[in-house]
Amino acid sequence: MSKVLNDFLTANLNELKENGLYNEINVVQGANGPKIKIDGKELINLSSNNYLGLATNDRLKKAAKETIDSHGVGAGAVRTINGTLDVHMALEKKIAEFKGTEAAIAFQSGFNCNMGAISAVMNKEDAILSDELNHASIIDGCRLSKAKIIRVKHSDMEDLRAKAQEAVESGQYKKIMYITDGVFSMDGDVALLPEIAKIAEEFNLITYVDDAHGSGVMGKGAGTVKHFGLQDKIDFQMGTLSKAIGVVGGYVAGTQELIDWLKVAGRPFLFSTSLTPGDSAAITEAIDILMESTELHDKLWENGDYLKKGLKELGFDIGHSETPITPCIIGDEKTTQEFSKRLMEEGVYAKSIVFPTVPKGTGRVRNMPTAAHTTEMLDEALAAYAKVGRELNIIK
Ligand SMILES: *Cc1c(COP(=O)(O)O)cnc(C)c1O
Repeated sequence: MSKVLNDFLTANLNELKENGLYNEINVVQGANGPKIKIDGKELINLSSNNYLGLATNDRLKKAAKETIDSHGVGAGAVRTINGTLDVHMALEKKIAEFKGTEAAIAFQSGFNCNMGAISAVMNKEDAILSDELNHASIIDGCRLSKAKIIRVKHSDMEDLRAKAQEAVESGQYKKIMYITDGVFSMDGDVALLPEIAKIAEEFNLITYVDDAHGSGVMGKGAGTVKHFGLQDKIDFQMGTLSKAIGVVGGYVAGTQELIDWLKVAGRPFLFSTSLTPGDSAAITEAIDILMESTELHDKLWENGDYLKKGLKELGFDIGHSETPITPCIIGDEKTTQEFSKRLMEEGVYAKSIVFPTVPKGTGRVRNMPTAAHTTEMLDEALAAYAKVGRELNIIK
């Protein structure tokens, strides 16, 4: 091995480990449901993004199996050669219907969707106003576009207005985009879309909402943009098919012209093999389930409210979440990791999230309740929280 590489790896790994920032990866033995098994131990799972429990839903499994039988396991090519199968077209039509837009495009993941969609539209003559807490894939997508990136303070509408005005008045940019998460995954707060839409109109901004954590959760399932009734105002409704939808993939929903353009200029669409047929059919089935009934959505919110109330009553700082995402803010990185480790010993899997994912000193254990949890499971989790919280002197 190259000595230069070896020195680099050793130094950097050691630094992470010394600072308690090294992430040990746990292996889940079996499905990622409301209970999981790790190292042979059963745990209540409060760390998945499987909000509606659809990752293990029987209807999705059946759709995937049947489509594997009829279409095979792989799509065989990229979308623009001959990897566009009928199941992909059916999926895109379904996404557009669900989102209330003219059209939609599916990508292989939310991450590569952001890489492809932002850079298909923005370039070095443009500027992107970006909320400072935006997801890593947005940051990378913006960088790839070579547009000037202007950080905007988190959900600060005065800062957005001032920076939009400054960018417009500079006369330096051909196009200006504002991009934001719909739901911020670390705190569970929701972007101020009505205000954002107004500012965008005033300054002629392109608007891009990444609704990875809002899809299936907000707007009776149809997302944050639909929640505010802004389907006609937000240009890009982007999201993932891997969280509440339970499978894998990403999408943009928007006007026919926008989607036509992304299908010729979104590089992962042109140069990376399409979603598998089985996954495509399972996703379509998931959206059907969400369009038929709000039962799973309602259960998710009920469970979220239950967990929040329980943690708050115990005396924990649960921040200001407006969604089922329930952070339990501990602060110090090492204590946060110790807390999470002790919870696991007590039968609860709730992952610690520390710097650099969240700012230093705001380490947290983040709980993701789902529609698949029972009240008994949540009660068991709360009992473990009470025990470990007292033990580590975080609550009285
Ligand atoms: C998870 C996430 C993504 C990436 O989605 P994947 O489908 O997992 O690649 C993109 N944006 C946000 C805001 C996310 O939370």
